[in-house]
This record gives sequence, structure tokens and C-alpha cells, in this order.
Amino acid sequence: MSKVMKHSVFKDLAPAYIDKLTSEETNEQIESHMDQCEECRNYLNKMKEDLFSEYENERRKDKRNVDYFKKVRSKNRKKITVIVSSLLAMFLVLITAYYFVFVNMWQANSSDVDTNIQTQGTLSTLLFKAKKDNHYIILTTSLTDGEYTDTIFVYEKRNDFSSPSKILKDGGGITFTFEDENTLLLYNGKKKKLTDEDKITIQYKDKTDVIPIKDLYDKGNDAE
Ligand SMILES: [Zn+2]
Repeated sequence: MSKVMKHSVFKDLAPAYIDKLTSEETNEQIESHMDQCEECRNYLNKMKEDLFSEYENERRKDKRNVDYFKKVRSKNRKKITVIVSSLLAMFLVLITAYYFVFVNMWQANSSDVDTNIQTQGTLSTLLFKAKKDNHYIILTTSLTDGEYTDTIFVYEKRNDFSSPSKILKDGGGITFTFEDENTLLLYNGKKKKLTDEDKITIQYKDKTDVIPIKDLYDKGNDAE
């Protein structure tokens, strides 16, 4: 075979040779041609390099894709973690609030509460105190037209870390200020003429006391 023919045959076979698809006999011919022909030797090496760098590029591209998906996945995971933990935190706050407001506090039985009226001059104060140790009373009130307290809801609460201990001793009180037996001084500074219909309602769990406001006035004031 002439050298020229061998060149073209070599180039035709080179890809198959690199892929190891050629027969042993062909391999021998190719290798002996490369020994003698620098041009074909370089041609094959160049082809191998090209194939290798192509392969490397593909590999790098794949790796980049994998990295991208990893990043997206870990970002999503972080987002989900943040959402889940904020939901948990919110849930805990709600549960805690619910516990302290509704479970740890209840409408008081009248038998558990010391209720009395304390008068000092023209001031009359309805005082509520828990009878049990480590319990205290919380009052919620409603006002008539923002003028005076007309309803008191009496709640009892167990002492816990949320309540400062000095509240325990004091109990709770609602004060009325009179000008005279028939006149109440209102929170807004105005005066109200009292009739027998003006009453204060005290709501316990087991009963409701309704007291005419006039009855809170200390009649001793008039005797003096
Ligand atoms: Zn050659």
C-alpha cells in the first residue's frame, strides 16, 4: 500500500480506533503507520484531545446543572423550614395566650370571693378578694355610655409566673364617687342624678348580684 492511501484510510479509521471498535489486525496497521507518519500521529492525538475536552465540557455542564438543582432545592428547603418554624412559633404563642386567658382564668364562684364595700367619705369602693391562697381576682367591666361602671365580671386566676405577687394582696376594686346620696360623679367629670333604676350588676359564675348604685353611698356622710 502506498503511503498516501494509508493517510486517508488512517483518517477514516481514526475515530473507530479511538473508540476501540477496530479489529486487532487493523489496530496493528494503524499503529505501524503512526510509527512512521508524524502527521497521522498528530492527527490522532489532536482528535483524542478534542474528544476529551468535549467530554470534559459535557461533564462540567452536567455538574453545573446538578449544582443549580442542589442550590434551588436547598433554597426551597430553607424557605420551608422558615415557614414551618414561624407557623410553630405562632401556634405556641396562641396556645400560651389561650392558656393564660381562658384556662388559667375562669369566672369566679361567689363563694370563692370576698366581696365588700369600702367607703371613705364620698368614695365607695367595691372590693373583690380571692379567698384561696395563690389565687387572685381579675375584674372586667363595662361602662354605660362611658360614664360609670354598670357591670362587673368577676374572674379568678391562679398565681403563676405571669402575675406579680403584689396584685395578689390588693385584690381588685371599682370605685364610685358621689356628690351626695342621689348624685354620682362620672368618669368624664359630669354628674348623674341617680334613680332606683341605676344599678350595678356583679356577675359571678354561680350568681348575679344587682345592687342599686344609691345603696353604695355611705349614709353616714349625711349624719355628720
Ligand atoms: Zn499518515
